[in-house]
Amino acid sequence: MTESDHDARVAIVAACRQLDRDGLNRGASGNVSVRSGRVMLITPSAVGYDEMTPDMIARMPLDDPDGAWEGPRKPSSEWRFHRDILRARLDMGAVVHTHAPFSTILAVARRPIPAIHYMIAAFGGPDIRVAEYARYGTAELSDYVVAALEGRNGCLMANHGMVVGGADLTRAMWLAVELEALAHQYYHALAIGGGHVLSDAEIAETALGFASYGVQAADDS
Ligand code: 13P
Ligand code: ZN
Repeated sequence: MTESDHDARVAIVAACRQLDRDGLNRGASGNVSVRSGRVMLITPSAVGYDEMTPDMIARMPLDDPDGAWEGPRKPSSEWRFHRDILRARLDMGAVVHTHAPFSTILAVARRPIPAIHYMIAAFGGPDIRVAEYARYGTAELSDYVVAALEGRNGCLMANHGMVVGGADLTRAMWLAVELEALAHQYYHALAIGGGHVLSDAEIAETALGFASYGVQAADDS
């Protein structure tokens, strides 16, 4: 373990335990990655969050086409979409994938989330899209997820779950909680007829305020 990775590894394990405590993930479902220079640090595959320790976090060069990795355990089966998001989205330094209950219910129903609450502005636009279905771990799934995230910080994944990305892990964790809250609200709004959807102009106006609202990435300057 390099000294420079140490804090990020500790933060990833703490984030995984938090996702478990918050009911957003359970067992070994979901995965978390953080950019560290030209490398991605990512949770190991199929390790329960209660057993995970910082030394188990895998390192993968972001520019390696074949998925080379270092670590005592193999990286998450979803390393492709984590790597491809971090490559495509230089505004993102961390990616969190969960099978959170209400996000997954909407993903199963393949229902995008419209602007039923102003907090959707934190995701960069007036809707949360559903990435098309492909088997977990595939390059095809990665392509669908990267496309669904265009101009957005989060999306649902058909018949699977959700993924969010933020400037750092603190911000990505905040977005994961907020996306599950939106899914929870929309699920219940649908049960009473669907709710009123805010206009694109109302969301654009709210998005302006979000530049300085909510959990912010740590300022390194
Ligand atoms: P990993 O344990 O390989 O990260 O897989 C969990 C998961 O959520 C697959 O989509
Ligand atoms: Zn998954």
